[in-house]
Amino acid sequence: MSDKLANLRNIGIAAHIDAGKTTTTERILFYAGRVHRIGEVHEGAATMDYMEQEQERGITITSAATTCEWGLDLTADGMRRIPSHTINIIDTPGHVDFTVEVERSLRVLDGVIAVFCAVGGVQPQSETVWRQANRYAVPRVAYVNKMDRDGANFYEVLGQVKDRLGANAVALQIPIGAEIDFKGIVDLVAMKAVYYIESKDFGSTYEIQDIPADLQDKADEYRAMLIEAVAETDDALMEKFFGGEELTIEEIEGGIRKATIRNDMVPVICGSSYKNKGVQPMLDAVIKYLPSPLEVPAVVGLNPDTGESATRQASESEPFSALAFKIISDKFGTLTFFRVYSGRLQKGSYVLNPGKNKKERVSRILKMHANKREDVDFVVAGDIAAAVGLEATVTGDTLSDDKNPILLENINFADPVIFQAIEAKSKNDEDKLTNALVKLGTEDPTFKVRTDAETGQTIIGGMGELHLEIMVDRMRREYNVEANIGKPQVAYREAITKRVDNLVYKHVKQTGGSGQFAHIEINVMPTVEKEDGTRANYEFESKIVGGVVPREFWSSVEKGAKSAMERGVLAGYPLVNVRVELVHGSYHEVDSNAMTFEIAGNYGMQEAVRKAKPVILEPIMNIEVVTPENYMGDIIGDLSSRRGKIVEMRPDKGGSQIVRAHVPLAEMFGYATTMRSMSQGRATYSMEPSHYEPVPSNIQEDILSKGKEAIGAKK
Ligand code: GDP
Repeated sequence: MSDKLANLRNIGIAAHIDAGKTTTTERILFYAGRVHRIGEVHEGAATMDYMEQEQERGITITSAATTCEWGLDLTADGMRRIPSHTINIIDTPGHVDFTVEVERSLRVLDGVIAVFCAVGGVQPQSETVWRQANRYAVPRVAYVNKMDRDGANFYEVLGQVKDRLGANAVALQIPIGAEIDFKGIVDLVAMKAVYYIESKDFGSTYEIQDIPADLQDKADEYRAMLIEAVAETDDALMEKFFGGEELTIEEIEGGIRKATIRNDMVPVICGSSYKNKGVQPMLDAVIKYLPSPLEVPAVVGLNPDTGESATRQASESEPFSALAFKIISDKFGTLTFFRVYSGRLQKGSYVLNPGKNKKERVSRILKMHANKREDVDFVVAGDIAAAVGLEATVTGDTLSDDKNPILLENINFADPVIFQAIEAKSKNDEDKLTNALVKLGTEDPTFKVRTDAETGQTIIGGMGELHLEIMVDRMRREYNVEANIGKPQVAYREAITKRVDNLVYKHVKQTGGSGQFAHIEINVMPTVEKEDGTRANYEFESKIVGGVVPREFWSSVEKGAKSAMERGVLAGYPLVNVRVELVHGSYHEVDSNAMTFEIAGNYGMQEAVRKAKPVILEPIMNIEVVTPENYMGDIIGDLSSRRGKIVEMRPDKGGSQIVRAHVPLAEMFGYATTMRSMSQGRATYSMEPSHYEPVPSNIQEDILSKGKEAIGAKK
């Protein structure tokens, strides 16, 4: 049992779009013996890309979980690996409109292969994913792919992983040749050269030889750096190293493993997935250096009955606990992907969804191999599988043993930055549209749907234009609904800029005999930025002393204040980053109750916010444009006219220039078309939400005068 767990790896392959994640995954599945033909991405046959439109767009939108086997030892004929380890691969998307997918897969992974393009190197979106992985402390191995391409430079990418991502990146290999002459790798641990034979068997055949003479110096140099880095991981190794003794292979690998799992080191390897070079050593690295479920911290949650903290070790003998991280509805029904943290789940049994306090029956359990499904009778700690039969469970929910409930921390999902009105093209399709929206919303928690109270319109919200475009596309393909959509609207927010102390609010009503009374005094102020750069959306604290407002009413005041956050005082956009302190007040024996204090909290908050210099905030996007030099002036001029601030300009390889800028989302609609025509199709760009900023005052006036028709505002 613990052997099985020790030999299990739950990993993800994270990459900037086009770095080669799909190709790499294909090769892994091929070498691991589960697919028999390599499907090239450009033929649209990649095994992982099972959604039709993903193939057309060539981007992997949805995380699929795939299981395969690998081992370090060879069969007697030396032709194959003896399977000793199970590797679950969670596919993560490269496009930042889908960071939520990255985020949720990082939650259930134990390690990541970060794929970089040997030409493009570290891209801004790789930085985003890297930061997310840092947040979840996920150990990583970096794989520099596409070593066969013109302009491939392993050493430069290695440097970028150090400088731009701030990682303790340590090369475990160096390439033999580059570009068209890329032949294989030098293994710096074994100090051997591995040559791949280009033939029909997709690089399954390789030869191990001595390091070529012209690479010996370089290999020695990088080996020395590796050994030093390993020595730093452990006092005993350090002593041996300073004593001038050679470290054994076991010591080196053990040191790398320890440091990688502690997040103190990122081993860097290289290859060309497309040319079938270097993929097997990457799988070896997964086994050697990435953690098993036993080597990651035990999962922590709350006991929903007692409110006390609870822990589950990765062990089959603990009570069952799991996290649902992905829901896919298709014509076969709903599949709920989940990771088991502890215990065992038998098919046909009931599980508790403690967040919803519902019991659900798991009618079938499936292990997924891309679009092939294998029925299994049970799953245990560490496993990743899909359940059939769950109805109430949505992405992010905990599943647990009903006698030993535990509620794991929900996955954090970002709020939408963009809204669009949507309606069915024909009256007959209205029900179908509603059904499709509900289903898509269950699958993707960043896809939000609501009805505008005033206009009755249905509004969808998401992480960017592309995100909503894809959702509308899926509605058409998977649910057969044609829809009309309105113009994209920015999701503005409101915030306060100043502190207001001791705002007095009295709710007093005298109607006939009985009356209503509540008196509060509150302070409001912007919340303080935390160490990790985030800020609380809302904080409440009661500083009441001596019972001038009885304790039982504090939560009523808080409830009222919180409901005032839903609708800002300027244009009705949600209010963010406010701290409220209840400091004083009074009550009446008969006329005060929970309701009167809730009303006081709500109106008091509104009045305080009005005095606290409220402003409208807009989402600012982080955009990076890669353009040939001669269009640079136009691109920059255009970005400036969109209220953009240029953050960085630097030359790329091959004469291109890279421009990074912060631009308000409101100015970026339709940018793809403009940029294409400005550069005759030669410039490319990527964009991600960066942060929120107050809008300039002239634009604020604009928004306020149009406020009524603004879609993002709640009326
Ligand atoms: P993804 O977007 O990260 O999934 O990347 P893909 O696997 O779809 O690869 C993007 C493109 O790069 C495809 O046309 C691949 O054929 C190509 N590609 C992937 N790996 C390599 C490689 O090692 N060398 C070369 N030359 N091309 C590659």
